[in-house]
Amino acid sequence: MCAVVGVINSNSASVYAYYALFAMQHRGQEATGISVSDLNKIQTIKSKGEVNQVFNESLLKKLKGPIAIGHNRYSTAGTSSINDAQPVSATCVLGDISLVHNGNLVNKDEIRSKLIKEGAIFSSNMDTENLIHLIARSKKESLKERIIESLKHCLGAYCFILASKDELFVIRDRYGVRPLSLARLKDGGYIVASETCAFDLLEAEFIRDVKPGEMLIFKNGYEKYESIELFKEEPRICAFEYVYFARPDSIIEGKSVYEVRKKMGESLAKNFKEHIDFVVPVPDSGVSAAIGFSNFLNKPLEMAIVRNHYIGRTFIEPTQELRNFKVKLKLNPMSKVLKGKDIAVIDDSIVRGTTSKKIISLLRAAGARSIHLAIACPEIKFPDLYGIDTPTFEELISHNKNADEVKNFVGADTLTFLSIDELKESIGLERQYSLVSFDGDYFIKE
Ligand code: 5GP
Ligand code: MG
Repeated sequence: MCAVVGVINSNSASVYAYYALFAMQHRGQEATGISVSDLNKIQTIKSKGEVNQVFNESLLKKLKGPIAIGHNRYSTAGTSSINDAQPVSATCVLGDISLVHNGNLVNKDEIRSKLIKEGAIFSSNMDTENLIHLIARSKKESLKERIIESLKHCLGAYCFILASKDELFVIRDRYGVRPLSLARLKDGGYIVASETCAFDLLEAEFIRDVKPGEMLIFKNGYEKYESIELFKEEPRICAFEYVYFARPDSIIEGKSVYEVRKKMGESLAKNFKEHIDFVVPVPDSGVSAAIGFSNFLNKPLEMAIVRNHYIGRTFIEPTQELRNFKVKLKLNPMSKVLKGKDIAVIDDSIVRGTTSKKIISLLRAAGARSIHLAIACPEIKFPDLYGIDTPTFEELISHNKNADEVKNFVGADTLTFLSIDELKESIGLERQYSLVSFDGDYFIKE
C-alpha cells in the first residue's frame, strides 16, 4: 500500500508534500519521509511514525527547494525497520536522485540477487532500492533513458516518483494497479499523488489520472511536461482500493470511492432476506456500504458501534495478541440501542476474521438478539502480491473455510458476501480490475 506524492515548480514544495501526506495518512502509518531538491542537491528527512509526529515547522523550513517527493509507509515488502523508510536517495554519476514507490515488484528477489552478484551493496530490504541500483548502473546517457531501461527489468504493480536535482519523473505500471493522479497547485506548480483527497486539502486543481504505463517528466521552471507511453496493456485497477483502502472522498479513475461503496452496499441488500430492526456499520470502513444497504432496504442506520479514533488501524501492530486487544480498544457497542434487536452488521471485508469475531461477541454481550453480518466484498481467498498487505494463505480465513464455516467461526446468525460479479458491477463494467485476492488471477507475469 503506501502513499506517494511529488511536487515541482512550487515555492512551498515541502509544505505541500507534507499536507498531501497528511491527507493520505490512512495509506500507511508506519514511517514517513520527504526529500527536497533545491536544484543543486537533495535533502531527505524520514523516520518511523505518522506525518505530524515526524515533521514540524522547523524541519519543513529546512527542506527548502521547488521540488519535493514524499512517502507514507505501510510495510508490504521489506521489514518495519527505519532502513526501509522512503524516500530512498542516492548520489550517482548524474547527481542526487531520490525515489518513492507505492506497490510491489513481483520479481524483486530475482533482480536483487542478480545485482548483488554483480557487486551492488544494498542498504535496505526494500524492492524500491532495486530501481536505484538499476538506474545507477545503466550505461545510458540521460536519466530519462536510464529510468526507461531500468523499468524494463521491474515487473509488478507500482507507482514511482523520482526526483533529480531539477526534474520529476512519474511512472505508473502498465496495468495501473495502484492509483495516481495529477493536479495543478495554486502557485502554478504541479502535484502528483496517490489519492485525490490530497488535492482537495491543497485546493489543487485536478488535471487527470496518470495513465497506466505512462511516464510523465516535469522540468523545474517549465510549464510543459512530457508524457511517454512506456507500456500498453489493458488497465487492471485494484478493486481493493475501492473496497477498503482508499479514502471515501477520493476519486479513482473517475469513480467516487464513496459512491462505489454505497453501490456495493445496495448490491448486498438486494439478496438480503432476513428480518432486521436496523443496520449497523462497523466504523469507519463499513459506513459507506452500510448507507447503501440501509437506503436500499429502507431500514434505519444506527451508529450502534462507537469507534475510538485515537488508535491506528487494527493491522498496524504486527502481532496477533495485540490485534485482538486493539479491536476492544477501538470499538464499543451501545447496549441501550442494541438490546433485544435484530440487526444487520455491515463491514467492508473479512481478512483473518478476528475483527468480525470480536465485534460479534461484543454485540452479543451488548444484547443484540440476532446478528446478520454482510460483507461488502467477496471472500478474500488469495494473498494480494500487488501492493496490498493481505496475509499469507494460512492466515486468510476464507482460504481455509467456506462461507458457512466462516459464519460459524465469527459467530454470526447469517453471513453474506458480495459476489465477484457484484463487486465488478458496483465499480463499473467498462473495464477490468485487479481482483487477485478474490479470484487468485495473478496476471502480472513475464
Ligand atoms: P480481519 O479481522 O478479518 O482480519 O480484518 C477485517 C477488518 O480489517 C475490516 O474491518 C477491514 O476494514 C480491515 N481491513 C481489511 N483489509 C485491511 C488492510 O489491508 N489493512 C488494514 N489495516 N485493515 C484492513
Ligand atoms: Mg475495518
